[in-house]
Amino acid sequence: MSYLDELFSLKGKVALVTGGGRGIGQVVALGLAKAGAEIAIVSRTGADETVKLIEKAGGKAYSLLADVTDEKAVDSALKEVVSRSGALHIVFNNAGVCIHKDTLEASIAEWREVIDINLTGEYIVARAAGKIMIEKGIKGSIINMASMSGSIVNVPQWQASYNASKAGVIHMTRSLAVEWAPYGIRVNSISPGYIATPMSVDTPQELKDAWMPLIPLHRMGKPEELVGPIIYLAADSSGYTSGSDLIVDGAYTSM
Ligand code: NDP
Repeated sequence: MSYLDELFSLKGKVALVTGGGRGIGQVVALGLAKAGAEIAIVSRTGADETVKLIEKAGGKAYSLLADVTDEKAVDSALKEVVSRSGALHIVFNNAGVCIHKDTLEASIAEWREVIDINLTGEYIVARAAGKIMIEKGIKGSIINMASMSGSIVNVPQWQASYNASKAGVIHMTRSLAVEWAPYGIRVNSISPGYIATPMSVDTPQELKDAWMPLIPLHRMGKPEELVGPIIYLAADSSGYTSGSDLIVDGAYTSM
C-alpha cells in the first residue's frame, strides 16, 4: 500500500451521500468511489446518472429514494444500505436547498422548508446513521454540509433561513461530535463558499458580479475542489479531527 493510500484510501468502506444526483453531491460521490468506497446515494428523484458515472470509473454505487425530512423513509433507506453493503462507515450529509428572498417577502412556510431540509434533514440522517454505527461498533465519519453562510451573512441577496440553517448545522455538528466521541464516531462539517453547481447556475449574473470583489480568489469554486477536503474528513488521516468546520471558500470569510 502506498503512503497516500495509507492516509486517504477508502477501500472497504461504505459511504452514504445524500443529494448525490447532481451538483456537489454527484462530484463528491464519484470522488469517494474513486478513493475506493462503495457508494449509496439518497435523493428524492434518483441518481441514475451518478451511479452510471461511478460504474464507468470502475466503482460500485446504487441509488435509493428518500426525502431527508421523512424519518421513516431515511431509516428504511439506511437499513437497506446495511443489508446490501453490510456496513455504513461514512456519511456525506449533503442534501440541501436555498431560497433567496427578503425576510418580509418570504413566507413562514418557506422558512420551515429550508430549516426542515437543511437542518432537521441532516439531523435525521446523522441520527439514523449514528444509531447504526453505535449498534454495530463502527467508528464512522459523518460529514455535514454547512456553508460559509453559517458563519457570515452573504450580500447582496437575503437568505435568512439558509444562513440560520447552516449555522445550526455547524453547532449540531459540534454537539454530535462530543456526544458520540465515546463511540469513536467523528462528526465534522464542511463550509464551502460559492461553488458553481445547478443550485448556483440559476443565480442572476448581476448577483454573481456583485460577489466577485468579495472573493479574494476572484472566482467561484468548482465542486471538484471539495473532493479532497471531504476525502480527508472521511479517511483515517483525519482520525483526530472531530467537531471541526472545514472552510473552503477562496478566503471569503477571511476578509
Ligand atoms: P443542488 O441543488 O445542485 O443539489 C442538491 C441536492 O440535494 C440534489 O441532489 C437534491 O436531489 C437533493 N435534495 C434536496 N432536497 C432534498 C430532500 N428533501 N431529500 C433528499 N434530497 C434532497 O445543490 P448543490 O450541489 O449546490 O448543494 C449541495 C449542498 O451544498 C447543499 O446543502 C447546499 O446548501 C450546500 N452548499 C452549496 C453551495 C453552492 O454554492 N452551491 C455553497 C455552500 C454550501 P433531489 O431534488 O432529487 O432530492
